[in-house]
Amino acid sequence: MPTFRRDSLKVEMPDRSLVKIPYFRVEGDGAGPTFYVQAAQHGIELTGIYTVRLLLNSVMAERLNGTLIAVPIANPLAVRWRRHFYKMEPGEPYSSSHPHQMNRLWPGNPERNETERLAYSLYTSLVEQSDYVVDLHCWEQWVGATAIAMGWDPLSIELAEYSLLPFTELGFLDKGFIVHKDMLSAVATEAGKHALIIEHSGQRWVVPEQAKLVSKGLVNILRWLGMLPGEAARSEAQLMRSRDSVEVYAPEGEWIIITLKRPGEAVEKGDVIARLLDMESLEEKAVESPVHGLVYWIGSTRPNADTRPSEEVQVTSKGEKYRVATICELK
Ligand SMILES: [Zn+2]
Repeated sequence: MPTFRRDSLKVEMPDRSLVKIPYFRVEGDGAGPTFYVQAAQHGIELTGIYTVRLLLNSVMAERLNGTLIAVPIANPLAVRWRRHFYKMEPGEPYSSSHPHQMNRLWPGNPERNETERLAYSLYTSLVEQSDYVVDLHCWEQWVGATAIAMGWDPLSIELAEYSLLPFTELGFLDKGFIVHKDMLSAVATEAGKHALIIEHSGQRWVVPEQAKLVSKGLVNILRWLGMLPGEAARSEAQLMRSRDSVEVYAPEGEWIIITLKRPGEAVEKGDVIARLLDMESLEEKAVESPVHGLVYWIGSTRPNADTRPSEEVQVTSKGEKYRVATICELK
């Protein structure tokens, strides 16, 4: 049995108060690697917290080779604030430039704002000693669970494959450069570690099936790394949005969108995935999948829909090219 220890970082804020970040350290008997996993950098991305709980349960039931460091709530200020970022105002859009956007502030700074101090403490106390870094996020309920590899690190791409999630993506690359250099995954990779981002499907509340899916994938990754006994499974069909996907647009008109499928669901060519209701006549129009595949994104297909719910409802307006769905094609 591995040994299990609960501890916490105490981070001093500009007003000298202390913020506690609880974490768990599971030590196995072998000299295997150190694997770091954290959730909830963003305050409404809660499912990963439960994923960490399930992962700890699985690891404690087996023989661990190496060390697991798990931080269920990396950003307690944002979780208590109940928005993506600490001090984010209602209706304020998700952005990369907010001063408390934690995932643009790594490796943090001990002298600057509250969020930068949290990042600094996590980075220097826990991330630096780790070989692998997994950052758990959640995107909108309209998008399927995805493993995002750091595309310039072949090992990261393998981590994404062994996560067994239906969709993978090579993350945040623009013409060979990293778009967001100060994301935890990018900073850790530049420091010689191997990193993976996992996006669960669904923000604002815990989606237990998603936590089960992702924790199962993390256990599989630990097997592949030799940290847990047993053979790692290989994913049978993993799709990449940027390579395999087909966008489905609404015809010109004013429609209320009724979605009939969920992200991750399999569809045949010709399956009705949504119905459009004409705002005047209430006449219905069926939207069919053009291909055999898996639904990647359906319904609210504008980015950050659940961050600003007041601005995103499933209505198309005149002259608008509204994407109803993205289907990843199974060949
Ligand atoms: Zn996030």
